[in-house]
Amino acid sequence: MPTSACGINCDVCKLKLMGICSSCGAGKSPEARKKLEAQNRIFGNTCAILSCACMNNLSYCLRDCLMFPCDNFRAGPYPFSPGFLAMQERRRRQTPPALTHNNTPVAIPPEYWEFLEKRDVHQLCNFTFAEPHPSGGLLFRFLQEDILIDTKERCLRRLKEGIWEKTEDPLLELITLLYFNNVKSLLPVGKDIVGVNDLKEAHFFRGPHTLKLSPLLERYGNDPNGFKDAAEYLGGKAVDMATSGYRLLPFPRVPLYYLLWKGDDEFKPKISVLFERSIEDCFEADAIWGLVTRVSFALLKGPAC
Ligand code: SF4
Ligand code: SF4
Repeated sequence: MPTSACGINCDVCKLKLMGICSSCGAGKSPEARKKLEAQNRIFGNTCAILSCACMNNLSYCLRDCLMFPCDNFRAGPYPFSPGFLAMQERRRRQTPPALTHNNTPVAIPPEYWEFLEKRDVHQLCNFTFAEPHPSGGLLFRFLQEDILIDTKERCLRRLKEGIWEKTEDPLLELITLLYFNNVKSLLPVGKDIVGVNDLKEAHFFRGPHTLKLSPLLERYGNDPNGFKDAAEYLGGKAVDMATSGYRLLPFPRVPLYYLLWKGDDEFKPKISVLFERSIEDCFEADAIWGLVTRVSFALLKGPAC
């Protein structure tokens, strides 16, 4: 594997072609151990980044480490510029791309807000386990964080240093409005857990609308511990399914079950998502796609979310 733990791609470097330099390899690779031995032998020292990635059993700093960009990178000047590191920090704080299943920008129809304003707050709270907020809005828990639905200003808010700040997260706004507008009863949970192919609109989740799980597989397919850390950070509860399974709650009465199967010589690793059958009472297929996309983004983002 030619890409180094730090992210430098040795595959496209002439130094490698000329045999002057060898690849450092991913932090978990045998190449990395060999490179560290060679650095120690020749320079009497090792690359702090490569040593750290090896020690922490992480393949790639940029993809796998929650600390990136850490002081090993900031100390520089090698391998990345301060400008590149600042860009990484800034963009890692961004909310997910606001795109629908058709790759078009998420648009919130104003009537979704109008409809929600007319709903009985106390009944909604009974159905969803949300709480009424003194502002007139609704407070609910999305995974590990509290979200305020501000019906007067028509926006979502997150608590930051004691202040409910307006948040731009269109995909979350869309699925939140769909859920709170569509829920009509206290839905049963834990009765009938189904896969995507068991849903009434299973045909929707084919081709371009396949659930977007490949980035999760790329990140956690060979890293069940990283998967566990991310799921537990989001408040997930372990379930006795697959190699590692977690029940996550994007809404208090809407669990999603994320399951990771570790690969072996015969089978590749696999990630799938299961649902409560009752999800279909609140969400149509395109909204389920959006919900899974938003939760998967949170799993990828981890504690910076
Ligand atoms: S910074 Fe470290 S890991 Fe990256 S290419 Fe250089 S020696 Fe290898
Ligand atoms: S702490 Fe820094 S050097 Fe170590 S694995 Fe994480 S990003 Fe890489």
